[in-house]
Amino acid sequence: MTDPQHIIEVAIPLYLEKTFHYRVPERLKEEALTGRRALVPFGNRKLTGYILGNAAGSEITNLKDIIEVLDREPLWTIEELEFFRWTASYYQHPLGEVLRTALPAGINVQTRKGSSGEQATMSGGKNIRREKFYLPGPELEAPRQPGAKALEILSVIRESGEISAADLRKRFGTCTPQLKRLTGLGLCTAEEREVYRDPFKDCTVKRDEPRCLHTHQKNALEAVTSCLDQHRFTPFLLYGVTGSGKTEVYLQAISHALERGKTALVLVPEIALTPQLTGRFQARFDSGIAILHSGLSDGERYDEWRRIRRGLARIVIGARSAIFAPLENIGIIIVDEEHEASYKQSDGLRYNARDLALVRGRMAQAAVVLGSATPMVTSIHAANEKRLTLLELPERVEGRPMPTVELVGMKGSKETISAVLSSCLIETYEQRQQAIVFLNRRGFATFLVCADCGKSLTCPNCSVTLTYHRQRGQSLCHYCDYAVPAPGTCPSCGGATLGELGAGTEKLEHDLKELLPSARVIRMDSDTTSGKGSHERLLSRMNDGSADILVGTQMIAKGHDFPEVTLVGVVNAEASLGMPDFRAAERTFQLLSQVIGRAGRGETPGRVVVQAPDTEHYAIKSASEHDAEGFYRQELEFRREVGYPPFTFLAAFAISGLSEQTVTEQAEATVRLLARLKSELKIRVEILGPAPSPIYRLRNRYRRQILLKSINRNDLHRLVFCWRQQATTISTIRISVDIDPVDMM
Ligand code: ADP
Ligand code: ZN
Repeated sequence: MTDPQHIIEVAIPLYLEKTFHYRVPERLKEEALTGRRALVPFGNRKLTGYILGNAAGSEITNLKDIIEVLDREPLWTIEELEFFRWTASYYQHPLGEVLRTALPAGINVQTRKGSSGEQATMSGGKNIRREKFYLPGPELEAPRQPGAKALEILSVIRESGEISAADLRKRFGTCTPQLKRLTGLGLCTAEEREVYRDPFKDCTVKRDEPRCLHTHQKNALEAVTSCLDQHRFTPFLLYGVTGSGKTEVYLQAISHALERGKTALVLVPEIALTPQLTGRFQARFDSGIAILHSGLSDGERYDEWRRIRRGLARIVIGARSAIFAPLENIGIIIVDEEHEASYKQSDGLRYNARDLALVRGRMAQAAVVLGSATPMVTSIHAANEKRLTLLELPERVEGRPMPTVELVGMKGSKETISAVLSSCLIETYEQRQQAIVFLNRRGFATFLVCADCGKSLTCPNCSVTLTYHRQRGQSLCHYCDYAVPAPGTCPSCGGATLGELGAGTEKLEHDLKELLPSARVIRMDSDTTSGKGSHERLLSRMNDGSADILVGTQMIAKGHDFPEVTLVGVVNAEASLGMPDFRAAERTFQLLSQVIGRAGRGETPGRVVVQAPDTEHYAIKSASEHDAEGFYRQELEFRREVGYPPFTFLAAFAISGLSEQTVTEQAEATVRLLARLKSELKIRVEILGPAPSPIYRLRNRYRRQILLKSINRNDLHRLVFCWRQQATTISTIRISVDIDPVDMM
């Protein structure tokens, strides 16, 4: 019997609350199951929809038919859908968009305007990769010489037993003609195989055994494992100074989870997702690890995703988006460096993976471990209130002392490197030890100023100054990448003398080479790490001792363990204090503490020189004195006084567009509507703004913001929700709403 009204509910990545009903034509009846995607007509477009389930009892007639079912297997489970629904409702974002964000890009179908020959990608279709492998052939001797390069290639093939074409290309560049010749001569053979792209394949790892834990680690591990055994959601804050052995606790807790037949999800900041860290996991658990990071191609990501979905990977390590990994039966979720701002997605679905870890953990009845040497102020507050169970590792492994820190006031000084730091650098170099010098600003000069008219070079698209990059010979906008040849002439008056103001890492590198001409200085910032693998190459030069001094931005502050580094210099420690953001002090404290923690992780004790114009600020002072408790106390007092998180909840509206006047009008209209709704709803929400955003113009768009603040989370959410219902949009203006904003720029 055929049922002429087989109707399904579909989420489309467009409207907030609405889901849509479609009819399933007879030919697709077997396929149109919950958890799969379908190509559906929408207006005059065809869109990818997500099948949520049967819409039994639907009265609606005139429904459109779905066009195609796009998957052979379900993409999500009922539990995962519950999590996606929660996310959609909390961040007030369309469920279809949440699903699109959660699923790997490799499976997505392009939206095309209704053409007839529509071809959708089947999952398991085009994106499955087949790769060519080369193996030693039947012939051992060639009747003719295949050439020197070919012989070299051959010896590599013989050495490795089998090797992919891609790996050969990596080593030899183009080698198609040589391979053709070799196969022709029977010296090697080629085979096509279906492969999972393995981001690990280049690493060879030594096995590693669990360490014998020290008392604090033991206590922490027991707390976590006992909650794991009871299958009961418990959120922990693992607060341990750098080098106190947090990662070792993660590793052993994960191994406990695996023994209980559970899986583990590990979130780390993108920047920490280096072979160094992932290698530690591989060394402990030989197989079944999936890695998700932004360096993966869509195809690689999709492969990892499928491995997880099929249960082939029981440990998932990834950056932010890994919170959506299709991992079932989760026993433990770890969020390393929980204070990192990069857990927050800054566009589209503006979720915070650290917060969602607690939600997913609760749904899975899992243990959730938030780890940090410098937890968020809000986490410390939650621990004080016993909403997080505090686990402390107050000492470094093997009782290694924290480095000694010297503060150097730089008020009125024009030098990049103070006399104190110079002499420490010289001494360290002479003792054949390594140093790190940190400056959170890239480029050569922060900006150029015309000696004739006094104007600084600014970006024509953004309200920021251009940073001078000497090696590139350009003045560059760090926001929109606008570039002009530099030093060049003044765009205002044509003056030819441009003065340099403010130093960046490039200048610092230059000054260090002047100070120590024979030292091997390397620089790590986003200018030197754009190439694939360049990050790792620089790090490995520090690890194998082929570099003496590492200069860098915040990129060097995190997660790396350089045992030979005995000196850390911080240039311009207060750079991040000037940000118009209530978290400026917190960020400064965290960053400084992290950098300071890079010194003396090995046998030799470390020392640190911190330069700042004003050494009295409590963020700088407490970081230098290793006085975290003092910092958190003062910062919480400050937050209470000014009414910021954790004492209030925030939502930020960003209004932007190309016309300054329209942006201003729309921002004002938004505030008026919010104010009216607020009084109708009789709720406690403070509406601040519309103020110009700190970067008022960005990529040609004018920007204003409105901040909603409330001591009651529900009130805040209700207001945003009601605003969504009533707001009218105009196409030239973009209004985005950010729940729990992190970036206030
Ligand atoms: P964190 O993650 O807190 O920075 P790690 O877990 O990386 O600290 O530990 C720092 C170093 O100490 C690592 O080299 C680690 O292998 C080692 N380590 C950790 N715990 C122990 C232990 N109980 N005994 C000996 N060495 C340990
Ligand atoms: Zn710009």
